[in-house]
Formats: sequence, C-alpha cells, structure tokens
Amino acid sequence: MVNIGAGKNSGSYVEDGFDPSSWIEVEAYTEELLNRKISCSKCLEGIIRDASELSEHISEKGALLYISMTCDTENEKKKGAFLDFVENVRPKLSEFSDSLNRRIVSHEAIEDLPERYDLMIRSMKNDVEIFRKENIPLSVEQTKLVTEAQTINGAMSVEYEGEEYTIPEMRVFLESNERSVREGAWKAVADRRLQDEGRLSEIFDQLIVIRNEIAINAGFETYTDYMFRAMERFDYTKNDCLEFHDAIEAVCVPLMREINSRRIDFLELGSLRPWDVNEKTGVGPDLDGRAPLKPFADVNEMVSKLSRLFHRMSTDLGEKFDMLVEMDTLDLDTRKGKAPGGYQYYLQKSRVPFIFMNAAGLQGDLETMIHEAGHAFHSIYCGHLELIGERSYPIEFAEVASMSMELMTQNEWGEFYNDEEANRARLGHLEGIIFLLPWIATIDSFQHWIYSNPGHTRDERKAVWNSIRDRFGSNMEWGDYQGHRDTSWQQQGHLFGVPFYYVEYGIAQLGALQLWRTQRNDPAKALSDYSNAMTLGNTKTLPELFSAADIELGFGEKHLDSLISEVRMAMAELS
Ligand SMILES: [Zn+2]
Repeated sequence: MVNIGAGKNSGSYVEDGFDPSSWIEVEAYTEELLNRKISCSKCLEGIIRDASELSEHISEKGALLYISMTCDTENEKKKGAFLDFVENVRPKLSEFSDSLNRRIVSHEAIEDLPERYDLMIRSMKNDVEIFRKENIPLSVEQTKLVTEAQTINGAMSVEYEGEEYTIPEMRVFLESNERSVREGAWKAVADRRLQDEGRLSEIFDQLIVIRNEIAINAGFETYTDYMFRAMERFDYTKNDCLEFHDAIEAVCVPLMREINSRRIDFLELGSLRPWDVNEKTGVGPDLDGRAPLKPFADVNEMVSKLSRLFHRMSTDLGEKFDMLVEMDTLDLDTRKGKAPGGYQYYLQKSRVPFIFMNAAGLQGDLETMIHEAGHAFHSIYCGHLELIGERSYPIEFAEVASMSMELMTQNEWGEFYNDEEANRARLGHLEGIIFLLPWIATIDSFQHWIYSNPGHTRDERKAVWNSIRDRFGSNMEWGDYQGHRDTSWQQQGHLFGVPFYYVEYGIAQLGALQLWRTQRNDPAKALSDYSNAMTLGNTKTLPELFSAADIELGFGEKHLDSLISEVRMAMAELS
C-alpha cells in the first residue's frame, strides 16, 4: 500500500464531480503535483496536503468498488469495474506516488519540515527504496489471481440434507451436539473445498512465483525480507516472530491440548476427530450437551442490542456505534455470492467506516461484529487527523483496537444472554484465544517457510504444512481424511490475499489482553487508555502507540505466560 501523503482541509484541492476511476481525470492532478514549483518547506506541506486529498478520493473509490464486488461476487459487472480500476488506475498511480515521493524526500527543504511529518517521510523514503517500476504489472497480476481465488471461495455452496447452504451457514451444523451431524456437515464442506483444491493450489503456486520475483526485483533475497520492509515492520524482526512461535508452542499448545483432552473424556469421544473442534477458534460441541448459543435471531436484533451494550460501556462508544447504524454502511447478513469473512473498510473521503460480514446467528458472529466495530471505532477516533498518512494506523495496532473490544465487551454480554449463557460465551471466547494463538503461529511459520523456499514442490509444501500442524496443532486423529488436512491451509484467505498479514493478530492479541487486564482492575482506565491510543492514528511509532495505551509490545515466553495465566484465572472464575 502506497501512502502518497495525507488528508483534507476546508479549501478543497480536488474539484466536485471528480471521478477517480478515470485515469484521464486523475492525471490532471498528478501532472500538476509533479510539476508544481517547490521552493520552501511550506510548499512541501502544501503538496503533501493536496496529494493527501487526491489520495482520499482515489482510496475511497477503490474501497467502494471492492465493497460492491465482495457483496456480490457473482456480478460480472461489479467485478469488471473493480478489476478495471486495479488494472488501469492503480498501476499508474503507484508510479506517480513514487515520483512524488522522490520529489519530496530529495528536496532540500525537507529538513525544515515540522516533526509532524517525520513518520510520513520515513514511510516515503521506505517506499522509494523498495519501489520498482517492473513490479507494477506483477502487482496487477497478483491482484487478479487473488480476485479469482476469492471468487472461487465465494461461489462455494454445499448441498446438505437436500438444501443448499453457504459455507458460513454450515457452521450451524458444524457446532451441533450430535456427532453424526457434525461429521456429515464437516465432510460436506471438506469435500466441497477439495473440488477446488487444484485450481487454488495453482493460483497459490503462481502467487509465490510472482511474489518472489517482486522481492528479487526490489533487491531483496527473499519475499519475507521484502515484506518486512513493505509492511513497515520497523519495530520487530523475523527473529522476534520466531521467538513468538516458540513462546506459543511452550505456553498455549499444551493448554489447548489439555482443553481437547477434557473434551475427549467428557464427551467420551474416544479420539478427537476434525469435526469435534474447530482448530482455529476452539469452537466445538458443548460439554454439557446444551444447544449452541444463539445470541440473536437476525442482524437487526444484533445491531440494536449492540447499541445498548456499547451505551452501557460508555456514552462515547454508544454514540460511535449508533453513527455506524445511522450512516447505513453495514452489510452483515450471509448470502450466496457474498465473499467469505468479515472486514472493516474506512472510506477515507467521507470518513465513514464500512463493515462487511457473514452473520448466521452464532456467538462467533457476535464476536466478529464486535471485532469489526472496534476497527470502526479506531477509524472514528483518529478521523479528525488531517492527512491520510496520519490516519493510516499500523495494522498491529489496528488489531489491538478490535481484539481488545471483543474482550472488553465481555462483561456486557448479558445483553444477549442469561447469566449461564453469558458465562458460557465468555469461557468459549477465552478458550478461543488459547486456540487462536497456535493457529497464528501455524500460519505465520508456514509463510516464513513458503517464502524462504520459493522453489518448493507441492509435496514438500504438504509435508511442511503437516509438520507445522504437528507442532502447533490439536491432538487430532485425521484417519481417512489426511487429504483434507494436507490442503487445509487453503481455508486461510490471508495466505492468498494479504501475505504475511497474520502475526499481527498475535502481536495485537497480547496488546488486547493487556488492555483487558487493565479493565479487570480499573474499567474506566482501560477505556481511556483505549481512546488515548486510538486517537493518535498513525502519528506515533508502534511501540509509542502501545505505550499510549499503557501496554507493552512483547514477543517472549515470560510476557505471554503472564497474560495467559490471567486468562486461566478468568476461566477458573467462570467455570
Ligand atoms: Zn481485524
């Protein structure tokens, strides 16, 4: 992602009626910016401000096209409009951004810019160093492949017991207390996935080749090294990630297996099969045979109850949540043809967050909605910052905003449940954290291996995936379904769409757990720590953002252990 600067002021640089999907219209502005005379630091500031405004318009257009496509993946016209933008506007735009970045960072007046611009300039210099013109067509090719993978996933539906279901809808059966129902549903989904396994593997093979080429072109030895720079990971290293994997293996994996063993004993399962637990979320049948939690019947109910919940936490959060509802930028229901998953996309020009998800009425959906609402709060908290570059907060911290919101709303889940159900939901959520961290280590170490060994064969990939699963996975018996396990990485869309974006969830989870620990002692302080840090947007470094929330950025075993001990304590209080 290229930042060409930042924000907006009252006097508009970009004229009304501007269409950012037309390169001819965009070019009028890029030419002006590239040719404008710069004689002092004030001129530099002016150019940064105007480029930021232009960037807001273009970013928003890209967002709207992406949103409209993911809401309706079967609509060829919408897909065409998005791809047209990707192919015809973004490549020229990234070339322009590079030229403008070079103009700015090489200008002698840059030394006179106020401190406010330090992080933006750091980012521009970084972009200049890794930018290569020959990588532009490769990025376009990459986006096309990713879009194809998304279309394949969005088109998946399952015929089950005579009815057609989307994959997210199948979760209702996957969480059934009847083992045979779970098994049937799991097989239906897994077999359906296997039908597209071949094409998805091909797409992934091609992505690896392209990504490796991008890295080599930019002068890096591996795509991993390239991505650490491209993702602006200035504050931690590859080794920190490896240390984090070790810590997770030592602290979380035994605990996760203990939870599984309890499940095996309690439910007299004999052995744990793939349909007995969701290894990423820890979700499985209830130990006491109770029906799955159903927090809401439809999305309207979810939204109105969430409004009350956030108002009870604070007027501030309540009002922010109501803003989302009033602005009508939520697409929450699951339906066929909608891309899987959930995301929050901030519309930079309107300064409005959009939330996308596939709600089917489960506790997991409630957690997703709260998660995405946390992202939206973050965007709103820093929406006052003028420049787009000041608002583009680091993703490691973005996930602190969302994951801590999941934890900090726990006390209010009574809005959706009676006491017993609410405790059950809380316990499941905390267990989910213990399961998610090993899954993060799984995906992250898989990516480290993939891009350190770009010439690998599919068989080698399979073997490594399985050995990583052995290291971080559940004590599970796959039996005749080994083939499904071999390719189960394909369910993780990040591997296709946003390479290396995963360890962030782990880094952020540790931040979120610290905010939650603060809340357990002092709820008001936790909320003010939250807003203090989120308001800063991208105007501070990652360690400084952590400090602003009075939490620590860490990867080691001791740090993780102290937080997971707190989780265990909370779990003991609930059960
Ligand atoms: Zn998130």
